Amino acid sequence: RLHRHPGALFMNRPNSLEHFWMPFSANRDFKQDPRLIVSAEGMYYTSEDGRQIMDATAGLWCVNAGHRDPRITAALLRQIDSLDYAPSFNFSHPAAFELSARIAAQFPEPMNRVFYTNSGSESVDSALKIALAYHAARKDGTRTRLIGRERGYHGAGFGGISVGGIVRNRMKFGTLLTGVDHLRHTHDLARNAFSRGTPEHGAELADDLERLVALHDASTIAAVIVEPMAGSAGVLLPPKGYLQRLRAICDKYGILLIFDEVITAFGRLGTATAAEYFGVTPDIICCAKGLTSGVIPMGAVVVRDEIYETITGTSETPIELFHGYTYSAHPMATAAALGALDAYEQDDMYGNVSAVALPWEEMLHGLRDCPNVIDIRNLGLVGAIELAPRDGAPGARGTEAMRRAWDLGAMIRVTGDIIALSPPLIIQPDQIAELGELLRQVLSSLR
Ligand code: PLP
Repeated sequence: RLHRHPGALFMNRPNSLEHFWMPFSANRDFKQDPRLIVSAEGMYYTSEDGRQIMDATAGLWCVNAGHRDPRITAALLRQIDSLDYAPSFNFSHPAAFELSARIAAQFPEPMNRVFYTNSGSESVDSALKIALAYHAARKDGTRTRLIGRERGYHGAGFGGISVGGIVRNRMKFGTLLTGVDHLRHTHDLARNAFSRGTPEHGAELADDLERLVALHDASTIAAVIVEPMAGSAGVLLPPKGYLQRLRAICDKYGILLIFDEVITAFGRLGTATAAEYFGVTPDIICCAKGLTSGVIPMGAVVVRDEIYETITGTSETPIELFHGYTYSAHPMATAAALGALDAYEQDDMYGNVSAVALPWEEMLHGLRDCPNVIDIRNLGLVGAIELAPRDGAPGARGTEAMRRAWDLGAMIRVTGDIIALSPPLIIQPDQIAELGELLRQVLSSLR
């Protein structure tokens, strides 16, 4: 099928849209009515028909520094001119070590050891394997069970979907998903609707871990993995005190606590990590996305010194951990990450999140009177607007909101009928106001 249109309007449209199988997408719908992006700068994309589209999602929660930050571009140009690739298996390059020290300096003590991956999904799989390897190294190898949480999203690998708790991401993928269990989720609109910041009610849901310990025995449990703030399932915020309680129960039973900070690390809440924001230090943190501001794929697993020292110190083989990727610490990725960390620091982008958090909260909660809105929630530079599902068609209202926003000039993300908002950390108050007006128009126009 040909999609090239005459005239300048769709100048950039490819001849055929049929061959790209788009991930996590409604392929058939998209190909009927494509939303193509041809360039970007700062807070805005340009669509193929030349419109400015505000990026209210930082791409997929990743473009934290805003689009085409010149420091990241310059770092990549310098890198490609000197070293295109170097392996990290028994060889390396200086930037890999420099970046690791920079990350360690931003993460809570004593989380100082960094293992590189290429995505959030790989970070999660790596973290789960490191947890198992740690217990094995301590000769506590019966600890093999992994605990996730309902509605958790931990990427698309088999490890991630096993501990993940989004039904559709699991239901068709068979029998490899065993050896795990799940905590209850914490989303509770009956008690917490329209919370500003972390919700008041639900810390006791962490005690669900006690139930799983009673069921399986702590001696079989390796780790608990949670998103300190869940994004992909529709922005589910931790109740006040919940993460502290989870940490205490993990400590009581010698269970490792893994925070999946793929969306929260590198400034989303106004601090380098959600661990810092909540004052709860896990044993392992998974990150990706904001690490390079989305410009080049890269992820990392950051662990406590003791985990690294135990695994490397007790190994009976020269290679201590039989795990890694061809592109772990790829030079282009380390360059992009160093550029991104420079940008965050030089412009105090994490500080900007705290500076605009109040206007952001006010803008969001100002939409409470719009039709169909059943909840609004916010934390740092994250927001969610939950809509009542249309009778017999759950998700339809959300999809319509996404399309309407695109037509009016904003990229928003929806999970079912929940609109999630997570703009680049550079957003300014006038742009927040602009987004608020656009969202009001979108919400008012939905059937
Ligand atoms: N973990 C969390 C919490 C995420 O939000 C995501 C992606 O949205 C992932 C893991 C997976 O990351 P990736 O898509 O880079 O594999």
